Amino acid sequence: MSNPTCEQCESTPGTTYAFHYGRRAARTGTGQAGTEPVFRATVHGRSPATGEYEVGGLEAVILCDGCLTRARARRAGRLVLREWVRTPLIAFAYLVWAVVVGAWAWQGNWTQAAIWLGGGLVLSAAVYAVTYLILESEDFAQHTAVDLHEEKLREQGWDLFWTEKEFGHLTPH
Ligand SMILES: [Zn+2]
Repeated sequence: MSNPTCEQCESTPGTTYAFHYGRRAARTGTGQAGTEPVFRATVHGRSPATGEYEVGGLEAVILCDGCLTRARARRAGRLVLREWVRTPLIAFAYLVWAVVVGAWAWQGNWTQAAIWLGGGLVLSAAVYAVTYLILESEDFAQHTAVDLHEEKLREQGWDLFWTEKEFGHLTPH
């Protein structure tokens, strides 16, 4: 028995990852009767009970390690660009850095220019590496799974997706 094939690359055997899907509860009724196992839940998050939700079910996605590693690397890159480089103080530091590198190059001091350029790149690579390492693998796999099946579920009317951990904040009743 070999594992089922990864849905992303369609070549390598993968592992099953599952996430929960649902939507905001309609004001009346309990959703489409007789289709999905629907129940109501209340979210207990940072703010008190933020609403009622219909939980549609569990969606399984097959993903291989290679695809997850590549997707994780891309996500780390996006996080670094969004959360790190765009922080005003950090962005300013990068600007200063670019000016310093440019100034050394302008003066023809290539040794200093290379040192500053290299230093900045090494620091950026370190930030990227740390970001990559702290991305929690399980939640990350589920986010990747959501990316792959989101469109299909949205067409069916489900527009909220929860990882296992997020789902734990939903209390069925
Ligand atoms: Zn794959």
